Amino acid sequence: MPELPEVETVRKGLELYLRNFLIERIEVLSERTIASDGGSRVFVKNMEGVVITHWQRKGKYLIAGLSKLNSIDRQKNQFSAWVIHLRMTGHFQWNPMTSSPCPHTRVRLWNKEGDEIRFVDVRNFGQMWWVPPNEVPSEVINGLKRLGPEPFSDEFNYKYLRKALLNRTRSIKASLLDQALIAGIGNIYADESLFDAGIAPNKQSKSLNIKELKKLSQSIVKVLSMSIGKGGTTFSDFRNLEGLNGNYGEEAWVYRRTNMPCKKCNSIIRRDKLSGRSTHWCPSCQK
Ligand SMILES: [Zn+2]
Repeated sequence: MPELPEVETVRKGLELYLRNFLIERIEVLSERTIASDGGSRVFVKNMEGVVITHWQRKGKYLIAGLSKLNSIDRQKNQFSAWVIHLRMTGHFQWNPMTSSPCPHTRVRLWNKEGDEIRFVDVRNFGQMWWVPPNEVPSEVINGLKRLGPEPFSDEFNYKYLRKALLNRTRSIKASLLDQALIAGIGNIYADESLFDAGIAPNKQSKSLNIKELKKLSQSIVKVLSMSIGKGGTTFSDFRNLEGLNGNYGEEAWVYRRTNMPCKKCNSIIRRDKLSGRSTHWCPSCQK
């Protein structure tokens, strides 16, 4: 599943190709992809004829600002929004050369020049919403409402972690995966951040001391920044807009390195199930 670095990579691509994209026509091939009220009918009606002004990301959500050309909305600086969650396999293809869409194509959008942006999703769990100008995405989309702070925000630091993990008896790995606690971290970056911080994934959340919390908050930011620099990870079905996947996979210290020697100490990397998720870690480096 795409995590923060992959979604950020997609956001950068969308910003590059789709800033000032005037949506001329939309075709929805999968009704279940449209999660906002009124389904594809309301979605298409409100999104045709608008310009994409900018792209933001919150956790794993992509948010495009939409504006009608020369409209009152624009003068009032009010934007409607197009919100997308890629889930497991959703991805965008820019101007695909194939004339007919593959069977997993869910939504197609064109501008006047005939350029196309295509949303393709094999598993079909991806979702998108149209949010009207008088509503705020974080107030109407449940998953966005519950999101914890972004790892790159000022709000996120060891003090925040200390407060959030107080009285939490579950494992630190489970806490890191909790989107209400921190936005955007999934299995790969939880394992990599815990390795970088030298903390065992099964350690009780509330038992981390100040030194460990400081290290962990720094490790999370470090690991995510590094992966964004590499364009996301090679694992998972992630693709950027040009159909390429990222290069972070080769850099991984523990993720998907089960039974291989630790790059730091040569101990064997273990893989254990923790809260139902495969967890990769080094028992010597992580205490
Ligand atoms: Zn090690």
